[in-house]
Amino acid sequence: MFANFIYFIIVLLLYATYQPVAETNFSPFDTAFYFIGLHLLFAYVCWSLFRRLTRRTGNENFARLDHGFNTLLTRLSILAIVLFAIDIYGLNLPSFLAPLPIFSKMPTLMALLFLALFISSLAIVWASAFSTYRHFYAADISRSAYVWSQISFSIPVLLPWVVLSGITDLINALPFPGLQRLLMTTEGSVAYFLFFLVIVAVIGPAMIQKFWRCRPMEDSTLRERIETLCRRAGLEYNNILYWPIFGGRMITAGVMGLVKQFRYILVTHALLRQLEPEEIDAVIAHEIGHIKRYHLVFYLIFFAGFMIITYATYDLIVFAVIYAEPMFEFFTRFGFNPVTMTSIFLSVSMVFIFLIYFRFLFGYFMRHFERQADGYVYALFDSARPLITTLEKIALTSGQPPDRPNWHHFSISERIGYLTGCEADRSAIGRHDRKVKKSIVVFISGLVLVGGVGYSLNFGETGRQLSKHFFEKIILREIEKHPLNPNLYKTLGDLYYESGNYEGVRQAYETSLKLKPDSPHVLNNLAWLYATAEDPRFRHPERALTLAKAAAAIIQEPHILDTLAEAYYINGMYAKALEASREAQRLARDSHAYYQQQVEKFRRAAGPSV
Ligand SMILES: [Zn+2]
Repeated sequence: MFANFIYFIIVLLLYATYQPVAETNFSPFDTAFYFIGLHLLFAYVCWSLFRRLTRRTGNENFARLDHGFNTLLTRLSILAIVLFAIDIYGLNLPSFLAPLPIFSKMPTLMALLFLALFISSLAIVWASAFSTYRHFYAADISRSAYVWSQISFSIPVLLPWVVLSGITDLINALPFPGLQRLLMTTEGSVAYFLFFLVIVAVIGPAMIQKFWRCRPMEDSTLRERIETLCRRAGLEYNNILYWPIFGGRMITAGVMGLVKQFRYILVTHALLRQLEPEEIDAVIAHEIGHIKRYHLVFYLIFFAGFMIITYATYDLIVFAVIYAEPMFEFFTRFGFNPVTMTSIFLSVSMVFIFLIYFRFLFGYFMRHFERQADGYVYALFDSARPLITTLEKIALTSGQPPDRPNWHHFSISERIGYLTGCEADRSAIGRHDRKVKKSIVVFISGLVLVGGVGYSLNFGETGRQLSKHFFEKIILREIEKHPLNPNLYKTLGDLYYESGNYEGVRQAYETSLKLKPDSPHVLNNLAWLYATAEDPRFRHPERALTLAKAAAAIIQEPHILDTLAEAYYINGMYAKALEASREAQRLARDSHAYYQQQVEKFRRAAGPSV
């Protein structure tokens, strides 16, 4: 079930990293044809593969069938993601819709439309899976309830994003330019993001329980028992709710909410009906453990950490894109749009980072937090025997093989094994707590380190050097393709000027002037180099004056006249220099102090007669 969370976020990443293109791969008619065709084919594949699986019943044992069912579900869900990627990157669907006024004003609306498209593909998978599911697990649940349970369980993971981007759209649609400008700055957007992440995390549970259609648990001795236990543990909450997930047929409980005003304890009917009171106590104690050990707070840090990671690695990915560009050319020969290729590359890298981060790191912490919550039962009770018998019941009723672990949970057998060990030797609990603490310290240190690298890449000297290096690479590559474009040499010269590579500046600008002799920018900058360079190798007074005169003949700008003044000055023509610098001062709209200083310098050189 948690896999669905990951699918949704991958889809969101795929969508968010796509750059709409002006030229789509196919015409609107062809696109519609392929779209319908691919989705029908997908539905057919889902339906026929599950039918084939159902026919295997009778020949094979249950564990094999269960494994087959889950594997098929995973494979088809991934196929649905692939289909979505084709819709976005192959068929360029967003490029067709983006120009519509409603979507350009409210981009979140379009994103929701595409999420709905993906959800409909998943719904096809689950609807096809239903007959097999009912057949294997003998569940008495309707097809629509089954599909809805699957969807509604996972959708809340999209909530923070929907709220955040919806409000951003609103701010941009409203006439508050100050607020919009603030959001454009790095600090503004980070502050905005953190503010809403916290808001959503705090009040989100209230929205999620509405979405899941939870109802309050009625007054009863069982409710009183849970209330008493929470009081004893010092846990405050808003309410105890029925969790109608999978029709309430699964033995499970949950807790959500960072603050007591929006904290809910969730229980299913199956939990209350099939467990003994002591077993219910043990399950609730496990849930209390999640709160008491601050797991929810950590999950929030973990999500914010993902932002730090993407922020830190984004530049590196962009550099990688630049390096990989020749590879793109290979694809563009087959008619793929280069912008699409770049966004595919970005997208794939983001999804890759995301998978590593969540599948492995997050999975690791979830598993160890579950174990810590299991161990917390001992903080409230002398023995965790009732939790062991509960796990045995879950193994029996869920139809899941007890020794099947997954990425976010230890298997039921492993959990029972751990608890049995704790029954004999309580020191295992403290050992595990220390292991979790150590892991968190390592994780947060890593995050700080990565954040520091990201910060220095974006704001520090390393980053500046690195981006200059890559920028140079791009320009040189472009020059290779278009050797007669004077603007490329101009840009290259500007870049070299910034990094103090004067030999590079000289060559680049001189080449640019050969191709286009009347660029005031290049004439001026090269004249400035020849007139003011400290290194005598780059001083050419005569050439400086020729260039500066040519620039000033084209356009009378203060900085160009200033260059002209310097050129006269270095040629010993002080009166002319003073004249030009006065004209520059007269035209100047800013840097008045600088021009005043220049005038004085040339006046001193010209002597008292002027
Ligand atoms: Zn748990």
